[in-house]
Amino acid sequence: MQQRLRASQLFLIVLLAICAMWVRSYRRADLIAFLTPSGRIQAAASLSGSLVLVGTSIVVDSEHSLSLQWESTSPAFATRQASKFIGSDFVNHELGGFAIVSGSPPLPGEPAGRWVLVQIPYWFAAILCIVATIGYGWHPWVHQQRRKRGLCVHCGYDLRESGTRCPECGTSESNSLD
Ligand SMILES: [Zn+2]
Repeated sequence: MQQRLRASQLFLIVLLAICAMWVRSYRRADLIAFLTPSGRIQAAASLSGSLVLVGTSIVVDSEHSLSLQWESTSPAFATRQASKFIGSDFVNHELGGFAIVSGSPPLPGEPAGRWVLVQIPYWFAAILCIVATIGYGWHPWVHQQRRKRGLCVHCGYDLRESGTRCPECGTSESNSLD
């Protein structure tokens, strides 16, 4: 029960962080890029109400040694840069705020490889976190409320008269402290 409560609290913190990033994403575009051990560049961006994950098979040569790079720009500039990178030769599956886009770098002289971009709207991430927060937190909360009011944590039977073992479902107070 304690673990469920902790999971619930963790998702609540993640939810608050997502909401903060969501608001920020309309004012600032944030990009984090990093290289895998094999030198393939990967990125994640927060832009105009969406989280964008970019996976690539593009091997950046050793002179571009970047382990982790963070960049913050205006959303308009980030969108222009992204459209240069995406070019015109790509496959786009889009539904609502969701998108899966894949293609090859269009610029001559760029390292060869493919990229896949997944766009997830912040509202969706927020809903997942709300569901997880309530899902993990509901039972601990109900148990806590019942315990406070002297009710059986399992079935809600009033235990104030009948001591520690519930006459209704047989749950004892010691069992219920899970
Ligand atoms: Zn009971």
